Amino acid sequence: MREQLIRETPAKVYLVLFSLSFLLNIFFFYQHFFSHHLSPRIGSTVSDLSWTRHAAEEAEAVAAISCSSHGRAYVDGVLDNGQPTCECNTCYTGTDCSVLLSNCSADVESGDPLFLEPYWMQHAAKGAVVLSGWHRMSYATTDGFKSLELEENIRRLHTAVGNAITHGKHLVFGTGSTQLLNALVYALSPENSSSPASVVATIPYYSMYKGQTELFNGRDYEWEGATAKWRNSNKTNFIEFVTSPNNPDCLLYDSVLGGSSVIYDHAYFWPHFTAIPEPADGDVMIFTVSKLSGHAGSRFGWAFIKDENVYNKVSNYLYYNSIGSSQDTQSRLLNYVKVILAEIGSNSDIFEFGFNKMRKRWQRLQALVNSSSRFSLQQLSPQYCIYFKKIRDPSPAYAWLKCENEEDADCAEVLMKGGIISRHGTKFGVSTQYTRLSLLKTEDHFEMLLQKLKPLVAGSDENSSNISSF
Ligand code: PMP
Repeated sequence: MREQLIRETPAKVYLVLFSLSFLLNIFFFYQHFFSHHLSPRIGSTVSDLSWTRHAAEEAEAVAAISCSSHGRAYVDGVLDNGQPTCECNTCYTGTDCSVLLSNCSADVESGDPLFLEPYWMQHAAKGAVVLSGWHRMSYATTDGFKSLELEENIRRLHTAVGNAITHGKHLVFGTGSTQLLNALVYALSPENSSSPASVVATIPYYSMYKGQTELFNGRDYEWEGATAKWRNSNKTNFIEFVTSPNNPDCLLYDSVLGGSSVIYDHAYFWPHFTAIPEPADGDVMIFTVSKLSGHAGSRFGWAFIKDENVYNKVSNYLYYNSIGSSQDTQSRLLNYVKVILAEIGSNSDIFEFGFNKMRKRWQRLQALVNSSSRFSLQQLSPQYCIYFKKIRDPSPAYAWLKCENEEDADCAEVLMKGGIISRHGTKFGVSTQYTRLSLLKTEDHFEMLLQKLKPLVAGSDENSSNISSF
C-alpha cells in the first residue's frame, strides 16, 4: 500500500505541473502576440516600445545632463557638439552652470513661476507627456477648439480646490490669460454706443490692463485709469478689472464701482499664494495655468463666463484672433491638471508644496525687511482657508516694497544701485516710492535677492544688528 502511494504521487505531481506549464505557455503566447494590439501602452515594458523609444531615451538623456542645480538642459536647447547645453539661471555660468558671476544683479522683475520647477522635477514620471507626430493635427477637436476632457478636469479641479463655482458658466480657453483680457473687454463693451466703455482698475494694478487697452485702441472702449477717480461720479458704463489676489500687493480685492461690468482676474487665487476664504462666483472670472502649475511657457489660460452673449462674443474674438488655442498645449495641460487633481491631499500635493515654499520665502524676506525701518512691506495676515481647512500664514507671490526714507524717492532706483532689478511702482499706477519684488522665481533668484537686500536694509542704522541672523 505504502509502496503503491510512493509510485503514484510523482505521476500526479508531473501531471499537475505539466498542465500548469501548458496554461502558462498559452498565457505568454497570447501576451506576446495579441495583447499589445488591444492595449499597447498599459502594461508594456521598455522592450515593447517602438516609435516612442527614441524620444523617451532622448528626453531622459537630456534630463540627466548635470547643470549643478543652477540651470537645466532642454531637448530643444542650443547644441554644442550635437549635445544640448545647460541654460543657466541668472548669475550662473560655465558648461555646467557651476560658476557664480561676481557683481551680478538679483533679477526679481518678472513673475516667472519657476518656484514650481522642482515640483515637476520631483514628479518627472507623472509630468511626462508623449505625443505622436500625427497628434491632433486638425484645427478642431471634439468640441470645436476645446478639449472636452480638459474642460471637464478644469471644472473638477475648481470644485476640488473650492476656489470657484463653475456650474452654469461657459468656459473659454485662451493663449495665456493675457489673450483673454482684451477678448473680454471687447465682449463687454457696448456696440455702437455714443460713449465708449471706460476700462478701469484699482491701484496698484497689473499694468497689462492699461497696456492692452491702449494698444488695441478699440472704438467701443478706452482706458480710464484708476477706480478712485470715478468713485463719486455719475458715469456708468465701466469695465472694471478686479485682480484678486492683486498683483502686486497680493491682497484680496473686490469691485469698487457698483453697476459696472467686472472682470475678475483670479490668476493667483490658488492655495499656493492665498487663503481661499470661499469659492469665487463672479460672472466673468479669469484663471491661468502659469500660476497654477507653473507652466507659463505653455501659454494657457481660461475664463468662466455666465452670460451667453458675452461668451459668444469672446468665442468670436478668439476665432478671429487665433482660431482657438494650441491642441499640443491642451494635451500637455490635461496631464498636469489630472496629476494635480490626483495628488490633492497626498504628500505630493502641489498646493502644499507651493504654499510651503512661498510662505518660507515670505517669512525670510519679512524678517529681513522688518529688521530696519528703511523699507516696509504690504501687511498680510493669517486667514482661514477652506482648502487647507485651517488658518494659514501669508504666502504671497510678490513683495510690494515701499522705501520709507525721503531721500529714497525712487525705490526701484535705490534697489537697482544695490544690485536688485525690481518692477517700478509707476508701472502699477502709483508713485516711485513703491516697487515690486517677484518671489516666484528660482531658489537662486530668491537667495540672490536676500543677499543683495541685506546691505541695503542695513543702510539704515536702526536694528541692523538683527540682520546677521539671515
Ligand atoms: N493676470 C495677472 C494678474 C497676472 O499677473 C498675469 C501674469 N503675470 C496674467 C494675468 C497673465 O498670465 P498668462 O498670460 O501667463 O496666463
